[in-house]
Amino acid sequence: MKILTVIGARPQFIKAGSVSRVLKGSGYINEVMLHTGQHFDANMSDVFFDQLGISRPNYQLSIHGGSHGEMTGRMLEKIEKVMLEEKPDRILVYGDTNSTLAGALAAAKLHIPVAHIEAGLRSFNMNMPEEINRILTDQVSDILFCPTDIAVSNLKKEGFEDKPVSVVQVGDVMQDSALFFAEKAEPPKGFAISEEFIVATLHRAENTDNPERLGSIIKAISEIHETIAPVVLPLHPRTRNVIHKLGLKLNAQVIDPVGYFEMVWLLGKSSLVLTDSGGVQKEAFFFGKACVTMRDQTEWVELIKAGVNELVGADYSSIIDSVKRHYGRVVKDENELYGGGRAAERIANYLSGQQI
Ligand code: UDP
Repeated sequence: MKILTVIGARPQFIKAGSVSRVLKGSGYINEVMLHTGQHFDANMSDVFFDQLGISRPNYQLSIHGGSHGEMTGRMLEKIEKVMLEEKPDRILVYGDTNSTLAGALAAAKLHIPVAHIEAGLRSFNMNMPEEINRILTDQVSDILFCPTDIAVSNLKKEGFEDKPVSVVQVGDVMQDSALFFAEKAEPPKGFAISEEFIVATLHRAENTDNPERLGSIIKAISEIHETIAPVVLPLHPRTRNVIHKLGLKLNAQVIDPVGYFEMVWLLGKSSLVLTDSGGVQKEAFFFGKACVTMRDQTEWVELIKAGVNELVGADYSSIIDSVKRHYGRVVKDENELYGGGRAAERIANYLSGQQI
């Protein structure tokens, strides 16, 4: 079976790191890799191919920048051409980026079946570009690989039970990557903090595109860094640009985005995780840390229910109070909320027509 995988953004490389390895080992699936170019810096793209052993893309479209519509439109046009040439039996897309939607839509129009990994997640906030991408991608997929029970139940509520598609709970491929690569953890080059620290990430558009929210978050991070514990912040290029443009004063241990092995090291050694990322919320849990999430909703609601993750939005005092409450907590994955690290194996088995 020939599968064309469409990826383009950092979290997708980390997810593909586990799935591609297992697909390769299946002996049944020939995977052709298409990189849209959405993320392109060496430290936002190449490093993950090197570290996670993902095959070099067969196609590199080098599409990045521009508005959402422009980027997605350009991807659609070029992805369609590749599909016409390659004639894959199905395509595989991950998550909720513009690359996900462009891949799924191009395939659906050509009647090529689409498998969506991380299907069924919802924040119920249609202002998020990611929410639009994931809802539309689910609509045109015929295999919906869900990471959690809640994702399955979201799809049921949207009527997917009555559609001629497969909704399959496989667990979360990000846990596979966290478990598999944990032993490769290494400190970022030149890392010099010897005391306890908090690791933070910040890049969600709802924060970076809103000066009031961003200003409040930056002020809170600086205060935490000065009075609670050093905050190590591998800063996303978009956030760095906006902070610079707005002239905001940030006091933290700001470093360039790091590779996965370095990120896993930071998560493992930290005393708390502070983020607005989707993936990092779960990784905090995988590495036994509590998480303070600077968003108003999350797709990973089971972590909130388990009391290991708290949503604090962008409010200055709420962020600081929550950091004080959760700092240093050790959390445990008692109920295997995310499938225990076998999601990629279940996906490969399902695609090969075997029991999962
Ligand atoms: N990540 C990384 N280096 C960094 C920041 C994040 O390797 O400097 C990893 C992180 O561990 C996680 C993924 O990138 O696996 C999350 O991606 P991101 O936060 O960009 O996207 P989201 O999950 O919010 O869609």
